[in-house]
Amino acid sequence: MEKKDSRFDQMLSKLKENNFRITPQRLAVLKILSESKGHPSVERIYEQVKAEFPTTSLATVYKTVTILKKLNEIIGLGFPDGSNRYDGNKPFPHPHMICTKCKEIIDPDLTSLKELTEEVSKKTGYQVLFHRLDFFGLCPTCQIK
Ligand SMILES: [Zn+2]
Ligand SMILES: [Zn+2]
Repeated sequence: MEKKDSRFDQMLSKLKENNFRITPQRLAVLKILSESKGHPSVERIYEQVKAEFPTTSLATVYKTVTILKKLNEIIGLGFPDGSNRYDGNKPFPHPHMICTKCKEIIDPDLTSLKELTEEVSKKTGYQVLFHRLDFFGLCPTCQIK
């Protein structure tokens, strides 16, 4: 598993390589996305950055997220209700566990994923390139409530 700060450094050097302007606001967005706690939405990132940099606009956050997505440094999880959540900590396809009540999203570490992928490939004859695997349920906190 990659370290959190190294994801931040990787994202930062990718932005520099591509000559994108590095601003304190942009660095704050990068930091939040590299940690990817609960897989934040653009609005959630905006709220956090705004607390530190009150002049930040939602458009700035959107722009940074769009750039990072184009550079394949973050993955976006789109949902049928139109919402999007982002993960910059693991910028490659991986399974997600989603709480339907509080909307928290975590990354379960599945040992059977490799076997499952092989089984899908064997049963369908397809070469699997990537996957979208979401589990929906109630997190431990919401189960108590
Ligand atoms: Zn929950
Ligand atoms: Zn994730």
